[in-house]
Amino acid sequence: MERIDAHLHFTSEHPDYAVALAEWNLKLLNTVGSVEHPLWRERLAEPYRRLAQAYPERFGWITSFDLPGFGEREYHERVIARLGEDFANGALGCKIWKSFGMGLRDAAGAHVLVDHPILEPILSFIERSGKTLLMHIADPQGCWRPLGPDNQYSNFYSKYPDKYLYGRTDMPSHAELIASRDRVIERHPRLRVVGAHLGSLEYDVSELARRFERQPNFAVDTSGLARAVDLGLQDRNRVRRFFEDFPDRILFGSDVNVELHAAETPESRRQALEAMRSAHQSAFDFYETDRTLMLRERTLQGLGLSEHILKQLYAENARRWYPGL
Ligand SMILES: [Zn+2]
Repeated sequence: MERIDAHLHFTSEHPDYAVALAEWNLKLLNTVGSVEHPLWRERLAEPYRRLAQAYPERFGWITSFDLPGFGEREYHERVIARLGEDFANGALGCKIWKSFGMGLRDAAGAHVLVDHPILEPILSFIERSGKTLLMHIADPQGCWRPLGPDNQYSNFYSKYPDKYLYGRTDMPSHAELIASRDRVIERHPRLRVVGAHLGSLEYDVSELARRFERQPNFAVDTSGLARAVDLGLQDRNRVRRFFEDFPDRILFGSDVNVELHAAETPESRRQALEAMRSAHQSAFDFYETDRTLMLRERTLQGLGLSEHILKQLYAENARRWYPGL
């Protein structure tokens, strides 16, 4: 079966990779992650563009744009001109990262959420260009919840307390971030929006179902393996019904990171491919089989989705939501 990984970060340009991907009937959609590093273009967007141009059968790419410097008068013009170039160079969409909502503040010190007016002309440009907006606008809801055995993200936030937002009144709530995205989706009904990481609504498929019903321009990707665990911890029949009710709205993604190594060797390339392959296989086992699986130290039962649904999850939806892929 053909598979498309619709959300990952793969910058290595050695021709061996394209050969392996062809053998596996696999295509990768690279998405720019954070743009907070000043060299994000050189380090991410440029290798993604080169890969998609060198191996169009195996790679696609999604660009992003610089964060606003408030007070910069030509910000929109500059961003739109650059996005236009990226789209002309094959970018299938534009990603917005959670710096909007979870970090960026305006000149007065207020949080800048994704429905801030400064983004409007940019979103309208993406919509007019017929490209897709990929939105990663929040951490998992566990970031705002008490730690404990029923919070899948307890280990992570115990390790990184500075990222943990439970009880923090100086930061937007998870619900406020989601509501700001809802407003963008509803304000731009002709803009295709894909929510990364199960649309940051990983904790409850009924939250997604409610939105899919009223937002026909909204889909989500499943990146990465932690999201399979989020699904696996919910009522299995409800999750299976969710996939049956919305077979055209869920795109497979792994969020795997394979970075460019200056000193790549055949052995390091083999290991990088092996790591990606194994992350993929764990996810495939979860979506395809009824087996009891161990994923990220959790015992879960696979969803055993039908072939009809899997074909859409693995490839057809990526092509539907990212035309040209
Ligand atoms: Zn990612």
